[in-house]
Amino acid sequence: LKTMASPNMKAIQIKNAGGPEVLKYEEIPRPEITEPDDVLIKNHFMGVNFIDIYHRSGDYKIPLPAVLGREGAGVVDSVGNNVKDIVPGNQVVYFGSPSYAEYTKASSKYVFKLPEGIDTKTAAASLLQGLTAYTFVTQAYSVKKGDWILIQAAAGGVGGLLTQLVKSFGAHVIGTVSSPEKAELAKKSGAEHVINSTSQDIVKEVMQITNNEGVHAVYDGVGKATLETSLTCIRRLGSLISYGNASGMIPPFNIYKLSEKNIKLARPSLGNYIYTKEEFQQYTKELFDLIINGKLNIKIWKIYKLNEVRQAHEDLAQRKTTGKLLLEP
Ligand code: NDP
Repeated sequence: LKTMASPNMKAIQIKNAGGPEVLKYEEIPRPEITEPDDVLIKNHFMGVNFIDIYHRSGDYKIPLPAVLGREGAGVVDSVGNNVKDIVPGNQVVYFGSPSYAEYTKASSKYVFKLPEGIDTKTAAASLLQGLTAYTFVTQAYSVKKGDWILIQAAAGGVGGLLTQLVKSFGAHVIGTVSSPEKAELAKKSGAEHVINSTSQDIVKEVMQITNNEGVHAVYDGVGKATLETSLTCIRRLGSLISYGNASGMIPPFNIYKLSEKNIKLARPSLGNYIYTKEEFQQYTKELFDLIINGKLNIKIWKIYKLNEVRQAHEDLAQRKTTGKLLLEP
């Protein structure tokens, strides 16, 4: 009797948490369809996100060994028995399944068939950060025309998309960045004012711009280094949307601080806005419509080869990048 061993594929696996050196380019078995809702995808492009760094470093714990990555796009290889709306050969994008590999097995719940006008590169470059920005400006805080909004790291992946969306809602964006090149980019995305966080006093500048009132809301993905500054920049009855920790995890927070200005604090995660299949499909459709209609511009920093992933992680962690980092097999 002959048994067929499943074919191998190249992937980035980690066996233990740590620095970029734990990222290993290895041959591992290609995933196979086991559940009726599975979709097996041959990846064209895979998105790199800051959460991959938290998974690698151990700031966010995941079961190990693990293939990193949370999003990618490519062509469907095969599907489980329940999957009817997606067939082999379709171009798709997916969320949530390990993507730093040649092939990814995803649940059909989080697989989206690409519409005319969105290629696999744009899809992989826009899904996770785009859904984050889109749900955070509509759900976490509902941005209104005329609002003053402070966006920390406005030239980053999520920051650049937040800037474009907030501006398109008719609100005023004040963006922070760490270099003149990033300042140019934030302005191009629609920031009315840009503050260089390495040479300027963010609170002083924000107060000057807003007539000493402060902003209606702050989007802060930088975390530990900026939390206090962000709180100080908010006006009475304003909102803080603290959504990340690029500079480090935020230590325990004293909620009594919020009563000084009756500030609303949100700490959203994308996963809870796209929890159901319907939510994921609907928001993804709306996001791609914005891109197709030219209302949201997706900026790709660089496409790295899968075996150059360490460089990608280092560049992102060392604040060298703007926009989206992609991997390709
Ligand atoms: P970015 O492209 O924004 O990169 C991070 C940026 O943060 C840097 O470019 C840098 O911009 C700024 N930064 C400030 N201080 C530091 C520091 N000490 N180390 C590193 N970066 C620093 O990354 P992403 O767009 O991928 O992610 C941004 C944040 O959003 C992350 O914290 C991420 O975890 C979070 N996120 C949260 C989600 C959620 O569901 N809650 C979903 C998606 C992302 P500058 O040099 O201009 O200061």
